[in-house]
Amino acid sequence: MNTRIALMLVAFAAVAGCQSRDKSPPGTAAAAPATVAPVLTGPDAKDIHSYADPAVARVTHVQLDLTAHFDTRTMQGTATLDVLSSVQDPKLTLDTRKLKIEAVRDAAGHDLPFQLAAADPVMGSALQVSLGGARRIQVLYTTSPDADALQWLSPAQTAGKQQPYLFSQGEAILTRTWVPTQDSPGIRQTWSATIRAPEALTVVMSGERIGEPKVVAGGQREWQYRMEHPVAPYLIAIGIGDLAFQSLGTRTGVYTEPSRLAATAYELADLEKMVAAAESLYGSYRWGRYDLLVLPPSFPFGGMENPRLTFATPTIIAGDRSLVSLVAHELAHSWSGNLVTNATWADYWLNEGFTDYFENRIMERVYGARFSNMLADLGWDDLQAAIKDLGGLQAADTRLHLDLAGRDPDDGMTDIAYQKGATFLRTIEATIGREQWDAYLRDYFDRHAFQPQTSAGFLKDFREHVVKGDAALEQKLGLDAWVYEPGLPANAVHIHSEAFAEIDKSAAAFAHGGITAAAVKDWTSAERVRYLNRLPRKLSNQQLAQLATAMNLEAQRNSEVRFAWLQLAVANRYAPALPNLEDFLASMGRRKFVLPLFKSLVAQGEWGKALATRLYAADRAGYHSVTTGSVDKVVPLAAAAKGQ
Ligand SMILES: [Zn+2]
Repeated sequence: MNTRIALMLVAFAAVAGCQSRDKSPPGTAAAAPATVAPVLTGPDAKDIHSYADPAVARVTHVQLDLTAHFDTRTMQGTATLDVLSSVQDPKLTLDTRKLKIEAVRDAAGHDLPFQLAAADPVMGSALQVSLGGARRIQVLYTTSPDADALQWLSPAQTAGKQQPYLFSQGEAILTRTWVPTQDSPGIRQTWSATIRAPEALTVVMSGERIGEPKVVAGGQREWQYRMEHPVAPYLIAIGIGDLAFQSLGTRTGVYTEPSRLAATAYELADLEKMVAAAESLYGSYRWGRYDLLVLPPSFPFGGMENPRLTFATPTIIAGDRSLVSLVAHELAHSWSGNLVTNATWADYWLNEGFTDYFENRIMERVYGARFSNMLADLGWDDLQAAIKDLGGLQAADTRLHLDLAGRDPDDGMTDIAYQKGATFLRTIEATIGREQWDAYLRDYFDRHAFQPQTSAGFLKDFREHVVKGDAALEQKLGLDAWVYEPGLPANAVHIHSEAFAEIDKSAAAFAHGGITAAAVKDWTSAERVRYLNRLPRKLSNQQLAQLATAMNLEAQRNSEVRFAWLQLAVANRYAPALPNLEDFLASMGRRKFVLPLFKSLVAQGEWGKALATRLYAADRAGYHSVTTGSVDKVVPLAAAAKGQ
């Protein structure tokens, strides 16, 4: 089935159970939350990107009641927070950014005194509430039209062109721009939500839907969701648009705009198989359903692992299922990241390194080692590039455990966390053997499920369960060097793809004989990317033209291949590829592609700077704040050109 009716019938047929906590009006006493996750207290778990002081008072449950106003691009309503505190007359400190706070009330509806501190550009404003005896409070607020987590799209920015669209992106510290709570990954919270939106639109969230939407006043429908597991607040996510749903298996499916549904479902046909593969590796999937929301092109990331509902870029829809490793990645986060979560952004590698490693194991299980080795080998290339980009092997930001003092956590989100992290885990696997490592990981996810974690906590756990005082093993692994020192330890395991040996030979031979269409016709997209990245960086126009023809590069729909080609074209100021570049940058807002292309343009001196300025001025309004936040530093535009 691929109608919108299917959405109603299939997606949430199994929903049942208690709604009492979600339904309690703020006037009733706070029921104890189903689960209260621990907050770590060691110095390594102190989150410098949150104002919260959970030792004094912490939020355990967030209940949202919001209306999405597409005309003013705001969400307005209340957040009712359940709070735990053992302190006399405590002050609750929340994270907010650009929120208009109208009032804070206790459960009986009495105003509570609160203070909204001056705003820090990255952290936002601390909202301090004098609780007195209140342990359930209600914050009445409105989001700003430029709330960084929320991207409001006009109908023209969607595939269907008829309806507006809204999606959120909370990671790293953007949830505070639409939910006033303790926005720290170390302070897990259950949540529930009542959302009103125009009747024609579907509301999806990273939780379980409760019942059917109800038509309410003002041409709106009201939707209810809940998440009964405590999650990090960056995982509270919402999408609202003209959405259709197609089931892909008993517990998997995809939401996207109706006109894109068939192509999207085709691309994701292996989803159910992937979930089964992941479970066979590291234990049961604990979140119920696993659906995808494939977003309009401005989504800034490849994917975002919002629980039960991965948000994904439409750039994965290559037409040939060649980019599904991205889905394996987001799925793997259902264990690494969502089940066991970095307590602070300094340990982001605990989310991403584990996930990149796990992603590759899923790919191996579903598609075989020949293919997964290619992907791992491409990851090694990415790691080398990241080390170079960050300033070489001594650079502080090549450490897994980062020092982010005074910085936006986004600055730590480099390929070090992903690729050095994954390489570290591959090195452990090679050292202790896959069998023991897999058994350990499975238990690790169990022991720490729904809890925050630090680097020190992982190392302690690993030593307790695996190293067990074995000095020779400790020496061989070099755990502390991996986590706390810059560069790449000598025992790093590099997975060499056998297939790439041939590709590298062809790339080396290109300067002499070029390449023929016949030679490349059976290459996978991974092989094409490898080939393009291994070619000499300086090529003549004639060579580039020959390459483009042989590989049919100007017609590539695979975004990774297209990106690799455009990087090469920009490096050579190859004019025939510029319309393609212009189209690519206008057609999607994925930071992984947008940022490096603008960097490459700017690196080309006046020629590239002029082009970058023109393109960015044209495209910036279509990008999410996550992407503009990075590109603004590379391509400075006058305020007028930014549309401000
Ligand atoms: Zn990830």
